[in-house]
Amino acid sequence: MSKKNTEIPTSKLKIIPLGGLEQIGMNITAFEYEDSIIVVDCGLAFPQDDMLGIDLVIPDVTYLKDNYDKLKGFVITHGHEDHIGSISYILSQVPAPVYATRLTMGLIEHKLEEYDKEHASQGAKLMDTVRRKTVTFGQSINLGDFRVEFIRTNHSIVDAAALAIYSPVGCVVHTGDFKVDYTPVYGDAIDLQRFAEIGKKGVLALLCDSTNAERPGFTPSEKTLAPIFDNIFEENKHTRIFVATFASNVDRVRQIINTAYKFGRKVAVEGRSMVNIIDTAQRLECIEIPENTLVTLDEMKEIPADRQVIITTGSQGESMAALSRMADGTHRKITIGGGDTVIFSSHPIPGNEKPVTRIINQLLQKGVNVVFQDVHVSGHACQEEIKLIYSLVQPKFSVPVHGEYKHLMAQAAIARELGFSKDRIKILSSGDILELSPESAEINGKVPVGGILVDGSGVGDVGNVVLRDRQRLAQDGIIIVCMCISSEGMLVAGPDIVSRGFVYIKESEDLLSEASEVVRNTVEEKLDEGSDWNSIKTAVRDSLGDFVWKNLKRKPMILPIIEEA
Ligand SMILES: [Zn+2]
Ligand SMILES: [Zn+2]
Repeated sequence: MSKKNTEIPTSKLKIIPLGGLEQIGMNITAFEYEDSIIVVDCGLAFPQDDMLGIDLVIPDVTYLKDNYDKLKGFVITHGHEDHIGSISYILSQVPAPVYATRLTMGLIEHKLEEYDKEHASQGAKLMDTVRRKTVTFGQSINLGDFRVEFIRTNHSIVDAAALAIYSPVGCVVHTGDFKVDYTPVYGDAIDLQRFAEIGKKGVLALLCDSTNAERPGFTPSEKTLAPIFDNIFEENKHTRIFVATFASNVDRVRQIINTAYKFGRKVAVEGRSMVNIIDTAQRLECIEIPENTLVTLDEMKEIPADRQVIITTGSQGESMAALSRMADGTHRKITIGGGDTVIFSSHPIPGNEKPVTRIINQLLQKGVNVVFQDVHVSGHACQEEIKLIYSLVQPKFSVPVHGEYKHLMAQAAIARELGFSKDRIKILSSGDILELSPESAEINGKVPVGGILVDGSGVGDVGNVVLRDRQRLAQDGIIIVCMCISSEGMLVAGPDIVSRGFVYIKESEDLLSEASEVVRNTVEEKLDEGSDWNSIKTAVRDSLGDFVWKNLKRKPMILPIIEEA
């Protein structure tokens, strides 16, 4: 043990979640001791329904910018979007070395390459400038005052890691996303022994995945799905089979390929994100695929229908995903119809039920046989697995992470059951500063946090006003009022009213001519008063807005345009 660790620490260890609480998504947590900061994960959140036109949401890292001289690096637990999704955006603001296991690093590098391509005109060169180190399980890395050890866990993607973060104040264990799977489809089981060893030496705090903390029991092994897939394939022997699942669920894809191989079928993978993840996993040997099983969609044309399996994205009803395009008949290469079987192999995430139902209806209308593989095998630990990790790690303090408030509270209840007193359980909000000494844990202060909206290549240039405009346009449409006013202050042409997304004009001619009467009166009144154009525009917005509200109970956006004659 180094000398430093045997001294009594004078400073406190700070744990600062910059996102990932109050929601599932955008996981990013800073650990700070004196002049060292390390950041665990760098995820994104997907936009909520009311964020129209927004592609993704990335965390606000003002705190890292303000303390940039302390930043030693990013340590990443696994390759899911809610853990790596914002890494290129964040690295372009606060460049620092990145540490991750094999597949995780492969997926990160793909993101950096794409970012460099998309932002070439701004001179982006993340692939050349960001230092990257691939870490193996059991290996430790030194980052300023911290040492970080990667521990093998199980999750729905291979190479997922938990972290033991050693600081002068003590050791903090961060589980990452995990489950306990004694028989994973690929790779080894979670390294429970290492958790126990670290626990024996004394752990100050445990940051544990809360996603499934409300579910009793154990999450079943991914392997339990094998006989279920076998049955479905057996029952649909004579049809072409499609399976829709999450792109990132590498283990599930592996499972499906196994079954396909057993039934002598060839497999093609469709959907950009899935092709990318499977390519990367194959290149890095994180997935083993029986020879001559995987073919391209073009090669598939030569193969009889009952020898084909197509694994596709779009199980959540995402409108741009491959399955959606097949269902509405706009896919370039695949026509789906009677005699095909589509297996949904993932539950709709709450909120996605509607788009999923829409796709199912479209498929059924086409005569497709739709099957649900509805045994829930999640990638996250249920209550008994959480208890197991607590019992092995024996932390002084419990800090539930990765979840909405209700999930964090469910884990707090588990900790209480295990004998933790209230003051040993710390429920944080994003931005809270949790200060730890070897004896105490207190929330002291707050740093700025929030979601920054990304729309295409624009980062953070869509603010609340733009978003509100988009909501209004989507809900109530727009009315444009054009008119010509002479330099003498006479209305010489118009007002003409043009609307989009507001009313169907043919059926509303009376209403619109009444509306233009209202506008004309307002404008003439204002001109008589000698008002300037700005106050004329405001008056038009007010009077027309009132008129529309009275008649239709709607609030379209109103855009008056005045031209000088
Ligand atoms: Zn995950
Ligand atoms: Zn996650």
